[in-house]
Amino acid sequence: MQITEANCKQCGTAQRPENFAFSTPDFWYGVPGEFSLYQCHNCELYFQFPYPTLEEIDTFYPPSYSPYERAIEDEPSLFSRLNRRYAQNKRVRLLQGIAGQTGSVLDVGCATGVLLDGLRTNGWTATGVELNDEAAAYGRDRFGLDIKTGTLETVDLPANSFDLVMMWNVLEHVPDPAEALAQLNTVTKTGGRLVLNLPDPDSIEANLFKRFWGGWDQPRHLFIFPTPLIKQILAQHGWQFEQKISYGGRFFLFRLSLFHWLDNKIGNKNLAGLLKKILGSVVFKVLTLPWFMFTDGIKRGSVMVIVAQKVDQKEEKV
Ligand SMILES: [Zn+2]
Repeated sequence: MQITEANCKQCGTAQRPENFAFSTPDFWYGVPGEFSLYQCHNCELYFQFPYPTLEEIDTFYPPSYSPYERAIEDEPSLFSRLNRRYAQNKRVRLLQGIAGQTGSVLDVGCATGVLLDGLRTNGWTATGVELNDEAAAYGRDRFGLDIKTGTLETVDLPANSFDLVMMWNVLEHVPDPAEALAQLNTVTKTGGRLVLNLPDPDSIEANLFKRFWGGWDQPRHLFIFPTPLIKQILAQHGWQFEQKISYGGRFFLFRLSLFHWLDNKIGNKNLAGLLKKILGSVVFKVLTLPWFMFTDGIKRGSVMVIVAQKVDQKEEKV
């Protein structure tokens, strides 16, 4: 198979105009331009096309883009501290349940290392990798964590050494997701677990909000993976799929999608502003809880956690 720049990066099929899904501006951060998402007619991968260069990808993250959280204890309001502590404990419990026991954990794209800090408090040996040096330095200074500045390609990690490797909201941003999954496999112990947190294009909200769904997050999300495809990619790189859980995102992403929709569908700015105030309120958040329990229950929430185990490939082939 001859691979050219215009082929699907996952299956190599020639890119066709019929793959076009939709185009959209950057609804969230207003990066100038119109970005086109395509869906491969063969493997069903969603991808931004034309493929952006590394220099272009850099411009997708304006200075106001900050997924980098400070320490929970440094939140000024008690409500924020309690809210974040609750979310953190829930995430740590989920990971403990998946891994079965404590051990060594690697978080790729760990930002300031808040989650790693929570895991370490619960007995884990924690290592992080983070591209943004400011966030990585915060995690090293504030928590004393071992966070390496760089990417999986540029940092040195020992082979077969981690019990748990994870990427939270990261794989959809990297220019070569398959390579990242292969590299993660190399550093994981046989029998170790992989946890991926990803936007789910098969979710009810993706279908409901269509191009306004927050999970597309153009232009920052270079790839979006339907569940059957992510299972396939994992299998190709030494991972055995174990389970999919609808998890996290919830109200944040729902509100984001709703706001994109209101901003673009309601002509009257005052009315749109009023609706955003009502629909963004804590009261509305509480009212939406049954909705999220329902979509999580049928595994059609906006955000999914994919769990896989590293299998011994030599044994697999026998
Ligand atoms: Zn494809």
